[in-house]
Amino acid sequence: MTAFPNPAGQRPPFIATVPGFPRIGAHRELKKAIEAYWRDPSLAPELANTAATLIDRRLRRATTTGLDSVPVGTFSYYDQMLDVAAMVGALPARVDGIADYPEEQVAESGGLLPPWLDRYFAAARGAEGIPPLEMTKWFDTNYHHLVPELDAARPFAADPSFLVSQVRGARRNHVPARPVLIGPVTFLALSKAAPGSPGEPLDRLPELVDVYLGILDALAAEGVEWVQLDEPALNTDRLPADRGAEASRQWRRLVAHAHGLGLRVLAQTYFTGGQRAVDVLAGTGVDAIGVDYVAGDAPDLSALPESTLIVAGVVDGRNVWRTDCARALATLAGVARTHPVAVSTSCSLLHVPHSLAAEPSLANEPELRARLAFGEEKIIEVVSLARALHHPDGQRIRRNGFLAEAEAAANGDRAEEQGNERERGARAPEHRVPRRKGGVHDRSPFPLRRKAQERALDLPPLPTSTIGSFPQTPEVRAARAAYARGESSARAYEAAMIREIVNVIGEQERLGLDVLVHGEPERNDMVQYFAEQLDGFHCTSNAWVQSYGTRCVRPPILHGDVSRPAPMTVRWFRAAQDMTERPVKGMLTGPVTMLAWSFVRDDQPLADTAHQVALAIRAECEDLEAAGAQVIQVDEAAIRELLPLRPEDRDEYAEWSVEAFRTATGGLADSTQLHTHMCYSDFGSILDLIRDMDADVTTIEAARAGFELVDAIAASDFDLPLGPGVWDIHSPRVPGVDEVTERIDHAARTLGPDRVWVVPDCGLKTRGWPETRASLDALVKAARKVRASL
Ligand code: GLN
Ligand code: ZN
Repeated sequence: MTAFPNPAGQRPPFIATVPGFPRIGAHRELKKAIEAYWRDPSLAPELANTAATLIDRRLRRATTTGLDSVPVGTFSYYDQMLDVAAMVGALPARVDGIADYPEEQVAESGGLLPPWLDRYFAAARGAEGIPPLEMTKWFDTNYHHLVPELDAARPFAADPSFLVSQVRGARRNHVPARPVLIGPVTFLALSKAAPGSPGEPLDRLPELVDVYLGILDALAAEGVEWVQLDEPALNTDRLPADRGAEASRQWRRLVAHAHGLGLRVLAQTYFTGGQRAVDVLAGTGVDAIGVDYVAGDAPDLSALPESTLIVAGVVDGRNVWRTDCARALATLAGVARTHPVAVSTSCSLLHVPHSLAAEPSLANEPELRARLAFGEEKIIEVVSLARALHHPDGQRIRRNGFLAEAEAAANGDRAEEQGNERERGARAPEHRVPRRKGGVHDRSPFPLRRKAQERALDLPPLPTSTIGSFPQTPEVRAARAAYARGESSARAYEAAMIREIVNVIGEQERLGLDVLVHGEPERNDMVQYFAEQLDGFHCTSNAWVQSYGTRCVRPPILHGDVSRPAPMTVRWFRAAQDMTERPVKGMLTGPVTMLAWSFVRDDQPLADTAHQVALAIRAECEDLEAAGAQVIQVDEAAIRELLPLRPEDRDEYAEWSVEAFRTATGGLADSTQLHTHMCYSDFGSILDLIRDMDADVTTIEAARAGFELVDAIAASDFDLPLGPGVWDIHSPRVPGVDEVTERIDHAARTLGPDRVWVVPDCGLKTRGWPETRASLDALVKAARKVRASL
């Protein structure tokens, strides 16, 4: 290998970088500062201080670790899409009335409190009389972005001052700063037209690019050399095929303008293999392309000039496992045969926790810890790989375990790799039941099950129920927290939970609901609760990842073979069922959702891991049934979420996800009624998959999608009973009896009265009791009204 292994033998302009950083702070400092500011606006200076500290620390640390090009601007007060909306003057008109931040304060904060901050927060979360922007999943991740509403009557206008402030700060600290923002195609592809605004957002690409040219001017004036524009949408069907040529044309304009200013442009893609992006960008003159070598097949780069820098994402930016350096180096060497290469993570580190050092729960798990890399460690991996690739004869600049490994792999020294193999766990998965097509499904066809269930349950038409959780009161939370901290006995905890179950059952009986639930007071989270009790999972104490805005989650780490040492929910179910004559639903989380909201081992196919989880849930289903459950709900809240980004991968996913659900639930007797629940609209695209899951009742989040979804389902092949949520639990608003009646009536007329269940659209744990009681009362009354009219 030459020092710079590429055909021209040229030194790459940089060799080690990442597309972006986690931004909430290793101890969620930013979350705390923002929420404090929301409660008390006089804390603005503290917010600015926290932001400055986090940004500084992050950028300096990345620089000293050895990144020689450092992304600046991936810090955000809420969301990166909303940042661009603010930067191009595209916050929604309904926040116009909220005043600018006073100029002195903006200046005092060094520009870190942008003038539009309060409008920005109002767009994100809503305010008095101002509904918030819609939120949706960032591609196939668990991060949610805001969906800008673009009004064609409001021209875009550049205001890059917030980004410029960050760039200035970085350059003062001698950070090799590379400003980052979402590219124009992706920004428009993920936005929507404001109500009443004609056309589609992507129609406005030329106009938006004009504004980006102004942003480039401002960045060039700061003296930076590189700019990164994130364009993940280029690889997905968010960019319709017939718009590819226009995207190329506009990108050519952008690049030409940048070159005129002496700027070079990195087009960063992620989450898919990258071929489409390469095709769109070839011929635009773009200086570098960031390619995700973890998510998909390596793209063919032959259409690119041989000087184009490939920023190769070989370190997985969205999972927590250490990189297999031999494999990463082989990939890098392959790319280096045709192009200059820089090493990177596959996507922004936004999707992984900050650092192993901040995670105390791993201290007692040295073997697991040795297999992991969080954000900080991934940066070290990138630097180590870059040095191993570009200085294979071993420039010993920084000594650490990973570097030794990377160097060893680069030098072909297999001996040093043993540890690697040992740690990556070559254990064969133990399948107690072999996987087979269609899962282990022993239930009869639906019509037979339906008869058996009618005999067993004797429910009225349009039965009423809920999705599982009831309000998590401060008392419930306090009891759980005290128990978790070891401050109260198991007995006291158990007693507190039983008291709450008594309360929840009593409330439901008084309200007159038909199928009751125990209310899930013992669950902090629908995935973590099970992960804590299953073998093969590790639950962290501080490994936070941003979900949206200031909301963070701690995904469990699924690291080994999954099995269920003991029943997980039976005692709560039994306590609840003993209190009432009405059926109580047993409540479980399904295998696909368990995977979707965890970090999952990557040393075996997801389908195999899903199967193991499914077997554990299946055992729980059977125990619940044996304990007397006549209705069991297996939530697959996230089934839509894992749907692959590329249509060609869809069938495979549909097959293993359905199989996992059917394996988990297929052992239930025909007379036991199986419910499932899923969240987030856009079910239209997976109705066939939901049908194949073959649950006896499917409840879905439909209150916001309204009648349209019900109509679409009525017109589809989906022929099973359905509970379209009739009350939007995401808002504290109490629905009136009439509006609920209208919804039920509509569903009964379009789907048929014997197919409809009456339920809220999700769990109630975030709601308070007063609105819960009032809303469920309206729901029961409305159901009775419609029943009487049948
Ligand atoms: N059973 C869960 C609950 O009610 C379902 C939550 C969800 O769909 N996200 O809380
Ligand atoms: Zn839900």
